[in-house]
Amino acid sequence: MEREVEVTGFTNKKRGRRSCASPRRWARRGGIDRLADWVRWSAQRCASHAGREVCGRDAAKRLDAGGRPYGYPFPDTEASVYWHQDGAFVVFPISPGRYRVLADLPLTKAERPPTPTLDQAQAIITRRGPPGLIAYDPIWLAGFRINGRKVADYRSGRVFLVGDAAHVHSPAGGQGMNTGMQDAFNLAWKLAIVVRGTCGDQLLDSYSPERSYVGDQVLKDAGRLTTIGTLKNPVGQSLRNLVGHFMLGLMPVQHAFANSMTEMAIGYPKSPLNGAALRGSAGPKPGVRVVPLQGQSPLGSGGTPRFALFAQPSEAVTDLLKRFGELLEPELRAPFAHDEMLLVRPDGYVACSATSASVVGEYLGGLCISPMARQQPIAAMGGR
Ligand SMILES: Cc1cc2nc3c(=O)[nH]c(=O)nc-3n(C[C@H](O)[C@H](O)[C@H](O)COP(=O)(O)OP(=O)(O)OC[C@H]3O[C@@H](n4cnc5c(N)ncnc54)[C@H](O)[C@@H]3O)c2cc1C
Repeated sequence: MEREVEVTGFTNKKRGRRSCASPRRWARRGGIDRLADWVRWSAQRCASHAGREVCGRDAAKRLDAGGRPYGYPFPDTEASVYWHQDGAFVVFPISPGRYRVLADLPLTKAERPPTPTLDQAQAIITRRGPPGLIAYDPIWLAGFRINGRKVADYRSGRVFLVGDAAHVHSPAGGQGMNTGMQDAFNLAWKLAIVVRGTCGDQLLDSYSPERSYVGDQVLKDAGRLTTIGTLKNPVGQSLRNLVGHFMLGLMPVQHAFANSMTEMAIGYPKSPLNGAALRGSAGPKPGVRVVPLQGQSPLGSGGTPRFALFAQPSEAVTDLLKRFGELLEPELRAPFAHDEMLLVRPDGYVACSATSASVVGEYLGGLCISPMARQQPIAAMGGR
């Protein structure tokens, strides 16, 4: 990472040998020659999420009122949503006495949404929020418009798009930052293994389909929540308020919502990295996230990203550990079921499940560059 530097263009070279998909080439295809333009151009290709706009206000403030601390009628750990006929108003506690409030406003014709003043924010709080909330000492006041769009491909040769450069959407559901961090999390271990020379470049090809799939889901969910949250039809508003009040009071719905917001529930069911799945197994399937087990070191932890093997010790498994020492954690983890093996990626998602070490060997051999790892006869690995 280079700070205080602006990217104005890039040349996509393959280790300095030949140039491929340079900005000029992109330019020839789409009439562009800057990275930002490329992102915009790629985003425009994603027709399913053309830019829908609503206008909003976002501000971090302290809310205060006599009687209750800070005037907020809920514990400082709970966000609250007020569905007013004028539009939604949301309060997010950040730290004791510090809150972020957000409200949607009618779209203006101005080129950029105007920055709200503290008085305007207070007027909205008074009209839409709980009685007695007073805002003062704002640290951030901002007007923004919502765009929902994403690029068609997160990778162009040696260039990878991560975070808002690849996808932007409404803040409804609070997914933007999480999604960007998980893009980086998905890419980092793959880059590390490829740069180390253990796996071939094709491992990196899985980044775009995996994260693009998640990006599509996040965009859809954020779009739906925004539509519901900004309903203007009074009948629709009443129905939403009634159903929302009932549903959000249910514990399972709250859990599902929390899982979705934290993105713990996401998976890669269609990933090109998914290997064999054991039929009839009660364990997690390829592409599903393995919940960290208490007392075990987190999957992928340590200086070098490695796959984890959940299996009973055996000769064939010891062989696997030796043959793929650069890719596998040196220690086995206890299997989920006695005769089942689970290979888990460094980011905690299942790669494949099997009863035979040869299936796992074949999977890892397919990723490896090393001729030793690739060529060893699979039959020699045997079953357990
Ligand atoms: C009002 C609002 C509320 C939000 N609320 C939430 C929330 O509750 N939860 C959540 O998860 N997310 C939320 N988000 C989204 C979240 O803020 C973003 O998803 C996240 O900040 C994106 O991080 P990023 O690093 O991908 O991009 P950015 O934070 O945009 O960082 C990109 C950086 O690249 C720099 N840059 C841009 N162009 C160039 C160039 N050509 N050369 C060099 N540097 C360049 C920029 O200056 C910037 O520093 C919200 C967003 C908004 C607008």
